[in-house]
Amino acid sequence: MAVTSSPLPTLPAVPDPATERILAGGLLPELAYAFGGPFHFLLPEAFDANLRAMRDALDAAGVDGFVYFAKKANKAAVFVERAAAGGAGVDVASAPELREALGHGVRGEHLAVTGPAKDPALLHLAVQHGALIAVDSLDELDSLVAAALTGRARPARVLLRCLPGTQPHSRFGLDEHELDTALERCVRAGDSVRMEGFAFHLSGYALQPRADLAARLAELCLKARVQGLEASRISIGGGLPVSYTDADSWHTFLAGHHSRHYHAGKAFSTGDFYPYHSPVAGAAALAALLATRPAGRGEPLSEILRDAGVLLLLEPGRALLHQAGATVFRIQGVKERAGYRLLTVDGTSLSLSEQWFNSEYLPDPVLLPQEPDGPQGSYPASVGAATCLESDMLTWRKVDFRHRPRTGDLLVYPNTAGYQMDSNESPFHDLPLPPKVVVDRTDRPRPRWRLDRHFS
Ligand SMILES: *Cc1c(COP(=O)(O)O)cnc(C)c1O
Repeated sequence: MAVTSSPLPTLPAVPDPATERILAGGLLPELAYAFGGPFHFLLPEAFDANLRAMRDALDAAGVDGFVYFAKKANKAAVFVERAAAGGAGVDVASAPELREALGHGVRGEHLAVTGPAKDPALLHLAVQHGALIAVDSLDELDSLVAAALTGRARPARVLLRCLPGTQPHSRFGLDEHELDTALERCVRAGDSVRMEGFAFHLSGYALQPRADLAARLAELCLKARVQGLEASRISIGGGLPVSYTDADSWHTFLAGHHSRHYHAGKAFSTGDFYPYHSPVAGAAALAALLATRPAGRGEPLSEILRDAGVLLLLEPGRALLHQAGATVFRIQGVKERAGYRLLTVDGTSLSLSEQWFNSEYLPDPVLLPQEPDGPQGSYPASVGAATCLESDMLTWRKVDFRHRPRTGDLLVYPNTAGYQMDSNESPFHDLPLPPKVVVDRTDRPRPRWRLDRHFS
């Protein structure tokens, strides 16, 4: 068999015992047979563990904090249920997300509402339920004051979202001048608004700019209190990084990255890839952030927050979903090309949403052959969708499989719960959306499963 001359880079997923037990057990072929199409499986125990680890990081740094799960990262109901059960809140950005969160047990006051120029119906619901609203513009603040006045029941709880100095072209947030105006309007609004503090959400994953801006927002709280406002908390948004693969594999990949490693010589620019390896990730990145000294300050962020009496809010999406699920396709056909194979699976690339970013999801898919005892070798293959679009590829990259992929084998994309599963899914070609299967008790010989209860 012809093999490409230089070895293909591999990007093995970081080991995860729960996922590995499920891959090794017989559950996935059974479910694939039952559903007759692709599906996602969800591991809520990983979500619980990630949430606990973030809480522990806050405790260890002596910082009062509150975690909101950023719901847009996965539509499943189970993660909202686990957030509620674990005493976390949920960050929503639409009326349907808010309804889902309430309906799955999150208390209104544990909701955070973010996003630009929010739908009036969403603002109304948020005020009625006592949710915390990150105000993105002056006219939004004005509508909120109006909504709070008409509702008469409760004041609007607001944070003012800041336009970050380091990302001046962001379309989100209030600039310095608008912030001053907003503060005056909050003072004038009296009892109809509770100005609880400030918020930001930065693109990228660097810690220093987050520490700098958090310290700046803590200072803004102190100033706002002088104006008689509550200003008791700041939200640092999301963006805790996730590490999908080990440092060596990632750096080898980046160094050797070449279009001949892809079907049709496809060229991706390296800068568009998610950073699939991070030296510190998840709760460890939160701990590192709290230990970071903001520019011009001698003390770490944790101390600044404590001294200012500021509650730290965070809205992680991806980092709470690390290892909380995977996506399973069945190989529907195998075709030979020069030096590699083209696999066609029974779903579409819309179930792996990285395509939004001129990029693809890089962690190696795992082949579950029907005949695991077959001969081993080097079997490079790219993965296409069961659709009529040339560009509908799940993996352009030639993945070096150890077994020869055959029709009927399963292909599992690991660690897809954060954003990959359902951000883009649509019933293209009238194909049904892949169901989500919640799997728990993964430490037992027979884990339990059920369908997720998301209904919107
Ligand atoms: C998307 C988003 C988040 C979550 O970001 P992650 O990178 O998934 O942690 C949090 N807050 C806001 C305002 C967002 O838009």
